[in-house]
This record gives sequence, C-alpha cells and structure tokens, in this order.
Amino acid sequence: SIAIVGSINVDITTRSDRLPQPGETLHGHSYAINLGGKGCNQAVAASKLGGDAKLVGRIGKDGFGDIAAQHLADMGVSTEHVHLDETHGTGIAVIGVDANSENSIIVIGGANLAVDESDLDRSSDVLETAKIMLMQLEIPVETCQSAAKKVRASGGKVIFDPAPAPVHGLPEGFLQNVDVVTPNETETEILTGFRPTNAEEAAHAANLLREQGVAAAVVKLGARGVYFKDGESEGFVEPFKVNAIDTVAAGDCFNGGLAYALAGGKTLAEAVRFAAACGALSTTKHGAATSAPTLAEVEALMGA
Ligand code: ADP
Repeated sequence: SIAIVGSINVDITTRSDRLPQPGETLHGHSYAINLGGKGCNQAVAASKLGGDAKLVGRIGKDGFGDIAAQHLADMGVSTEHVHLDETHGTGIAVIGVDANSENSIIVIGGANLAVDESDLDRSSDVLETAKIMLMQLEIPVETCQSAAKKVRASGGKVIFDPAPAPVHGLPEGFLQNVDVVTPNETETEILTGFRPTNAEEAAHAANLLREQGVAAAVVKLGARGVYFKDGESEGFVEPFKVNAIDTVAAGDCFNGGLAYALAGGKTLAEAVRFAAACGALSTTKHGAATSAPTLAEVEALMGA
C-alpha cells in the first residue's frame, strides 16, 4: 500500500472582484468548500489512479472535520487512520480569489500541527506494511523524520515533498532517511542555496541534494519539465503539452502519481515520466484534489 502521513485541510474559497484592503468589508460573488492540504491532495491523487492509499493524519472534533472525512471517503481514501484530535480544530485554509485569479490565503494548521509520535504508533501497521510513504511539511518535521525511519526500518521507501519550503532548514541528517526528494524551484533553492531554471542547472542542484544523503533527487521546474537523478539513472522529462488553466496542486498530483508508479515497481525514470503526465493533466482542470487525473487519462496522454 501507499501510506501518506500529512495534512488534512478544509479549503474555503471566496470569489470577489478584488481582494479586500485592511479594514475593508467587501461583498463577494460565491464561495466553495473543498478538501485541501498537501497530505489529502496527494492521497486523493494516488487513490484516483487506483492506488491503495492510506492517509495518516488528524482532524478536529468539529464540523470541518466531518466535511473532510466525508470528502475523503467520497474520493476513495481510507479514513481509518485519520485520528480525532480532542483539543485542536480541523486545519482550514481561507482563500480569497479575485477577478484576475490572484489569490491571498490564510492557513490555520490546527490539528495538523499536533500530528506526533502517538499518531505514528496508532498507525504502526500502516507504516510497517507501506511499500511507499509520502510526506510533506504541513505537519511537524520531527514527525516526518520519525515516520521516515519507521517505514525504512520495515523495508518501505520514502518520498519527501519539501513543501511548503523549509525556510528554517531541515533537522541535521533529515535527507539521509529519505529515498526520493521532490522539490520545485523555490524549495530547491531553500535546500541547496541554488535556484535551477533549466535542465543543466537542475542536474547541478540534484547533485547538491544527493550530497545531503538522499538517494534520488527529482527537481520539478513547473511548466519547464522535470529532472531526476539517482545512483543508476538520470534524465530530463520534457513537459507534456496540455492546455493549462489552473496549476493549483500540480505538484501534489505529480507526487501522488510518482508514489503510485514506484509502488507498482516502475523504475525512477518511468515513474517520473508518469508523474509528469499526472501533474500536467491536473493543470487542465480547476481545483486541488478534484483535479487529479484517472489512470486512463494518464495512459492516454503518455501514449499520445
Ligand atoms: P509545485 O506545485 O510543487 O510547484 P510544479 O508547478 O513544478 O509543482 O508542477 C509539478 C509538475 O506538474 C511539473 O514538474 C510538471 O511535470 C507538471 N506541470 C506543471 N505545470 C505544467 C504545465 N503548464 N504544463 C505541463 N506540465 C506541467
């Protein structure tokens, strides 16, 4: 199975002509309530492809927690390991979007920030049986580090998406417990001090990342493509040509696809190409978790 240890949010998105100034009250047009959080998005992406995705995380005992659990269940993600937090509220993101699609976002981490060792203990069977574990940085980094050690001790592989960018750095030796790291340009710069803009520079950045102890570096350059390197292979995957209208969660769909392909025994080169198709397809639809493609859609794009 594919374990995802990560965040669960409810996104509340408002639409208005413009975003309010400090002290201002505006009337908007509409709002939507959706599942969000990188943990959820990546779990849904892997599940929609047909992966056996098990999400480990926390929600609060509140209406938003009920909404999150219902959405996860509707999208085929097991909520057996989504734990109820007695004291913290469910994580939310309040997202304002204006007529030009500019946005401003406030995230309240809530229960996500309390995910700790007790959650890993309660879900130890998930970590011990996972072929692949996906993690990101919307839960405490110490919890990620511990989860990575447990999964590897049981023979599983760890994919780490260093997002949001770890502006205060990672704990000493963190990447030594990771098999595959998948930063975008900004996250690569935070981790290495070097911002890649093309394949050659991404190759240099991948070497810097590998010097930090990670086996495989996958450097995502958004619409410019993606570079990968491990001990045996390296290469650049040109972007798939799609009509991109919304890049929200492209990285999450990429990671869900990467986990699905690696869990299915694909090589890194094959898995990165598959993941790039997933990321590209997600940009053709609005939304985060809801924009993840099906396996048939990915195969159609890859075959074309
Ligand atoms: P993040 O959301 O983490 O910043 P990216 O924006 O790099 O991630 O997108 C993740 C992946 O999705 C890219 O590496 C690429 O494979 C794919 N992708 C993103 N935007 C496009 C696009 N406009 N056209 C084709 N593929 C894209």
